Amino acid sequence: MAGDKTDIIVVGAGIFGLWTARAALARGLSVRILEAAPEIGRGASGGIVGALAPHMPERWGEKKQFQFEALTVLGDAIAKVEQESGLSTGYTRTGRLVPLMNEKSRDRALARVDDARENWGDAAMMQVLPSDAYPDWLLPSAAPAGIVHDTLTGRLHPAATCHALAEAVRRAGAIFEVNCTVTDVQSGRVETSDGDRVADAIVLAAGVDGFGLLAPLVGETPGRAEKGQAALLDIDVADVPLIYADGLYLIAHKHGGVAVGATSEKVFETSAPDALLDDVIRRAIAVSPRLAQAQVVQRWAGLRPRANGRDPMLGAVPGAQGIFAALGAFKIGFGIGEKVGRVLLDEIVDGKADMPDSFRVAAHLGL
Ligand SMILES: Cc1cc2nc3c(=O)[nH]c(=O)nc-3n(C[C@H](O)[C@H](O)[C@H](O)COP(=O)(O)OP(=O)(O)OC[C@H]3O[C@@H](n4cnc5c(N)ncnc54)[C@H](O)[C@@H]3O)c2cc1C
Repeated sequence: MAGDKTDIIVVGAGIFGLWTARAALARGLSVRILEAAPEIGRGASGGIVGALAPHMPERWGEKKQFQFEALTVLGDAIAKVEQESGLSTGYTRTGRLVPLMNEKSRDRALARVDDARENWGDAAMMQVLPSDAYPDWLLPSAAPAGIVHDTLTGRLHPAATCHALAEAVRRAGAIFEVNCTVTDVQSGRVETSDGDRVADAIVLAAGVDGFGLLAPLVGETPGRAEKGQAALLDIDVADVPLIYADGLYLIAHKHGGVAVGATSEKVFETSAPDALLDDVIRRAIAVSPRLAQAQVVQRWAGLRPRANGRDPMLGAVPGAQGIFAALGAFKIGFGIGEKVGRVLLDEIVDGKADMPDSFRVAAHLGL
C-alpha cells in the first residue's frame, strides 16, 4: 500500500492538510496523508484557542470577502464532519465581545455597525451593548465605553477539530501514514523517511516546516515561525460569546474550561511555554475576574506558519508542475481552512481558483 500511487499526497495533517484531504475526497480523488509526528495535532493546529473571528467590516475587499465566505459556511461543514466522524469539535457560533475603552472607539464601533449591515447582509450583525451586558463574564469596568457584539464569530476546540477531521477523512478512505517525514518534494514524487511515495498532485501543508520544503523549489525560504502561547483554565462558564480584549482571546469551550491566549513572538528561545504566558493569564483575569478562582490545567505553545507576505500562501507553486502550497495559515487557519481546501482542489482539478492574488505563492516571493 505504501508504494501505491494516489491522485493526491497531502504533506502534513494540520488543519490545512486535513481540510484539503477532505476536499479531495469530496472530488472523488484518492488521497494519502503523510504526517511526520506519531499522531495528529502536534503542529500549530493541536492547540486550545480556536477563535473563528472575522475581519472588521469596513474597507471591504476580496480578502475580507474570502474570510467572510469561509466563516459563513463553516458551521454546516463542521456539522457534517461531526456526523461522519462521531466526534465533537466544540464548534458553536457564539459571537464575540470586544470592550470599548473610550468615546472615540465607541464612535468607530457605531460606524462599523453600518459597515457590517452593508457587507455581512443577513448573515450576521454587529451592535454596541452597554458595559454591563455580560457582568459575570466581562467586567463592566473593563469596557468603560460599552461592548461591541458581533454574531459572526465562532469558536471550536482546535485539537478536537483535527481529531474529528482526521477520523472523517480516514472513514472516507484516505490513507494515513504517521511517523512519516517528507524530506524532499518533486513533481509526482515525495521522498520520505520511509521510502518514496508517488501521486499526480502534491500539496505541501506542513506548517512552519513547509517553508523549508518549498525553498529548493522557489529558491528562497518564503516564511517563518511566529510563536504563540495559551493556557486553559478549569472553570466552566455558560455558552457565552468569546471575548477579544487587550489583544487576547478568552474562549469558554463547549467541552469545558476557558482558553486564554495568545502571545505573538517573532523571536523566541524555546518553542515550549515560558514565563510570557503568566502575563497572558494575568491580563485575561483583569478582564474576566472569575478566572482568578480557576486552576491552570494546560499551558500550550505552538509555532504559527507566517508567510513572508503575511497572507495565506496557496495554490500552484510556480515552475513546479503538480506541486501546490497550503501554507501561511498564520493566525486564521481554523477560520479559513475549510474554504482553503476547496479552493486548492479547484486549482488542482480545474486548473484555476478564485482567491485574492496576495494569497498566491508568487506574492510571497522576493519580499
Ligand atoms: C497559541 C496559538 C493560538 C492560535 N489561535 C488561533 C485561533 O484562535 N484561531 C485560528 O484560526 N488560528 C489560531 N492559531 C493559528 C493556527 O493554529 C494555525 O493557523 C494553524 O494551526 C496552522 O495549520 P497548518 O495546518 O498550516 O500547520 P500545522 O498545524 O503546524 O500542521 C502541519 C503538520 O505538518 C507536519 N509536518 C511538518 N513537517 C513535515 C514533514 N516534513 N513531513 C510530514 N509532515 C510534516 C507537522 O507535524 C504538522 O502536523 C493559533 C496558533 C497558536 C500557536
